[in-house]
Amino acid sequence: MVNTLAGFGRTWSVQHRGGRTGLECASDSTSAGAIMSEARISSGSLEAVRVRELDRYAASRPLGQHALQRARAHMPKGVPMAWMSSLYGHPPPFVRAGVGVRFTDLDGYSYVDFNLADTSMFAGYGVAPITEAVTNRFAGGPHFLLPTVDSITVAEELCARWAMPYWQFTLSATQANTEAIRICRAITGRDRVLMFDGKYHGHADEFLGAVDESGNVVPEGRGIVSDATRHVTIVPYNDLGATDRQLQRGEFACVVVEPAITNAGVILPKPSFHAELRRLVSDVGALLIVDETHTLVCGPGGLTRQWGLHPDVVVLGKSISGGLPLGAYGMTERVAESLEDPSGGWADTIATGGTLFANALSMAAARVALQQVLTPGAYRHAAALGGRLADGIESTATELGLDWRAHRLFNRSGYTHGPDLPRSAADARNNFDASLFNTQRVYMANRGIWEAIESAGPAAGIRSTDADVDRYVNVLHDFLSEVVH
Ligand code: PMP
Repeated sequence: MVNTLAGFGRTWSVQHRGGRTGLECASDSTSAGAIMSEARISSGSLEAVRVRELDRYAASRPLGQHALQRARAHMPKGVPMAWMSSLYGHPPPFVRAGVGVRFTDLDGYSYVDFNLADTSMFAGYGVAPITEAVTNRFAGGPHFLLPTVDSITVAEELCARWAMPYWQFTLSATQANTEAIRICRAITGRDRVLMFDGKYHGHADEFLGAVDESGNVVPEGRGIVSDATRHVTIVPYNDLGATDRQLQRGEFACVVVEPAITNAGVILPKPSFHAELRRLVSDVGALLIVDETHTLVCGPGGLTRQWGLHPDVVVLGKSISGGLPLGAYGMTERVAESLEDPSGGWADTIATGGTLFANALSMAAARVALQQVLTPGAYRHAAALGGRLADGIESTATELGLDWRAHRLFNRSGYTHGPDLPRSAADARNNFDASLFNTQRVYMANRGIWEAIESAGPAAGIRSTDADVDRYVNVLHDFLSEVVH
């Protein structure tokens, strides 16, 4: 069995156990049991709370239940994308509308959102200047398969933030990562890609690899060609020795890395990790792709700027266009030259592009989001709230006698259900109790808090407030008080 906690889109690690879904199977996690007894959490109380809260959730949402039933007639799992129902153990609410950091479901319940569509709605819902720009652009034509001047402005804005001179655009970060890797392969003439355990770079075939018990990289999830990950090597995060040993094989086109691992909770790099990695990658003539899809909310220029990273390609997505689909990658001049296509023929060009990529509508939204909404002050505000969230989680745990650590990554927090923050994905897996977190999740949903998906952690957006964070912490306190003995 593939052993993973991490991974957007398959966050329920328990789903791999016997193919059952949802909270039903959460309680059969043996590792969770071990964590629970250490942490003074009563499995009997947890189970009772879980059942009670699931019942309450369903019973109080008749319109949502009805919509789900109706939806099931035409959409597997009753959702337009199967992930939507497998990201947590309770049925998904059908959303009516969102404003700021709150959204309302069909039954009229309002939620303060700490998931923010996995941070893609960092800018908030219904942001006036973005709404206006999108409305105007749509009225004037959303897409032409031709450039608009907005694309120049967006490239200039991103260049100012990430110090990358050249940019290309897709519809998602998955596609941006895919194209970035193709470019690296074209430049180096090599196939192999190195990634780190705990990573998530999107739902493209070769990103969906994990290390099995024999140390082989195998596809995670069905439907992927069985040898899709044959050119992928995965090493433990923060392990420069293992990275170096692999790179010395001389087969690598590129290394794909996040500034901090963000899909197995948060795993911070050791102090010298990125500088050393940059050196090792350059020494073997490979290229470095930094995937900032999740960390771009840390500030203008993401962690590339904050931490002084020097990638060859940087990948962005999610919130850069305020919620419209847009992926982007920035390149050094040397990398960009490969796209200038000197020979001209179709067969000689690097395989990039898609009909709706870089559409005028997403570009209009991105221009306004970058120029008017995602300001330095907005990032600082969200980061301060992320710190408040982490402080609140830790002090609540301490008060209840739980030796836990909260993740701290600018606007993001999250849970290590143990005394030490993880340095690797293995640490993260061993110190995260999925059944506890998912019971917490439905408990919070019943009290107006929309908790993060399991692989991430609660995050503040630029429209969140101190009061929102305090409410989260109070509900956490109530939940833990019921299950800690
Ligand atoms: N990279 C990282 C680090 C991510 O967290 C994600 C999504 N969670 C992606 C890439 C893929 O983004 P998308 O699903 O928007 O393509």
